[in-house]
Amino acid sequence: MTFKELNLIDPLLKALQDKNYVEPTAIQQKAIPQILAKRDILGSAQTGTGKTAAFALPIIQLLHTDHSQEKGRVAIKSLIVTPTRELAIQIHENLEFYGKYTRLRHAVIFGGVKQGSQVSALNRGVDILVATPGRLLDLINQGYIKLDQVKLFVLDEADRMLDMGFINDIKKLLKLLPTKRQSLFFSATMPANIVELSDKILTNPVRIEVSPVSSAAETLQQKVYFTNKSTKKDLLFHILKDKNMDQVLLFSRTKHGADKITKNLKGAGIQAAAIHGNKAQNHRQKVLSQFKDGSIRVLVATDIAARGIDIDKLQYVLNYDIPEDPETYVHRIGRSGRAGETGIAISLCEPEENPDLRAIENLIRQKIEVADNNPFPQTDKPMTAQEKKEHNKEKQQKKQAFFANRKKSR
Ligand code: AMP
Repeated sequence: MTFKELNLIDPLLKALQDKNYVEPTAIQQKAIPQILAKRDILGSAQTGTGKTAAFALPIIQLLHTDHSQEKGRVAIKSLIVTPTRELAIQIHENLEFYGKYTRLRHAVIFGGVKQGSQVSALNRGVDILVATPGRLLDLINQGYIKLDQVKLFVLDEADRMLDMGFINDIKKLLKLLPTKRQSLFFSATMPANIVELSDKILTNPVRIEVSPVSSAAETLQQKVYFTNKSTKKDLLFHILKDKNMDQVLLFSRTKHGADKITKNLKGAGIQAAAIHGNKAQNHRQKVLSQFKDGSIRVLVATDIAARGIDIDKLQYVLNYDIPEDPETYVHRIGRSGRAGETGIAISLCEPEENPDLRAIENLIRQKIEVADNNPFPQTDKPMTAQEKKEHNKEKQQKKQAFFANRKKSR
């Protein structure tokens, strides 16, 4: 199938040609005709499937056709809400590219930066607005944004949105949108609370599903190294001796862990940087572009920060820890081997994480290959329930002592 067969207009076909896209991806083939037919969509799809173009292309087309008849001030006709700044910026970049042969105006707003330039862009007039929930509501409250002309509403990465605690923001937002509108709802997973939310937003939607969350990309090779907590660091250095691994996205469960790993890597002369919620927006953008251009070899990310990062041809994903939630594993490894590329996902598993690894294998219905050539094999035994209890108690006490000391020294 070609993009032309999807009945896309020439300005879009030309932009797609500039991008060298040959064939629409599965979600694009399914979603574009339905969106052009003005249907609501309930889409289960994760990043890496071509989801952004699947909604961006038809939105541009519907508004472009409409735009030609419009007179007067430009009002926001499409609102795309997405949970993270990185995603918002990427969606906006995509819109700019796909829409470059149209006269539609786009803007992106997100928190963590001053609002001045965002407000100026809004004042110039915007057809399509990409936003994260907090800043959006903030600027609505300040009177800079009106949603009464919105015809097309997109809620992107709905599951992550709820994970990040945005449910009340979304509810507030829904009250401000016109009831007569077309809505597109995307989520990588579809647990009950997400389905319930989608019911509130969509009218008679077409359900579209591509590569469900339990299916890892077929071109992806997965490997696990069983090791000890105390040997993880050495094992990481051993793995990174492989010079083919020139661009590695490394996942850490916590921000603190991400900083520590980054420090260790830098200490060993490996170019690395961390990306997580405590880092300023401009730092995150800078690090991301350095990673893309190859000047940073290892990008250390937490799950939330990494979600939606779009890096072409990312070959290596490294799980420094095993996520407790097995679906998080699928999201992580989904960052490599995208759009038909080969990819390798490597996981480091310490004894305490063995059950988490088994849960992942159950979810993906696949046994993960155990890496040979492991100089630091797992020798420690997982803690017994009693040991775990004591360990947690000790940890808690240490934490309390730390905060008590800090309070005293202030
Ligand atoms: P997304 O799922 O929107 O994050 O897209 C994943 C990646 O696939 C991005 O790098 C897109 O630029 C790319 N992409 C989207 N559609 C196509 C296509 N039809 N052919 C090739 N690459 C695509």
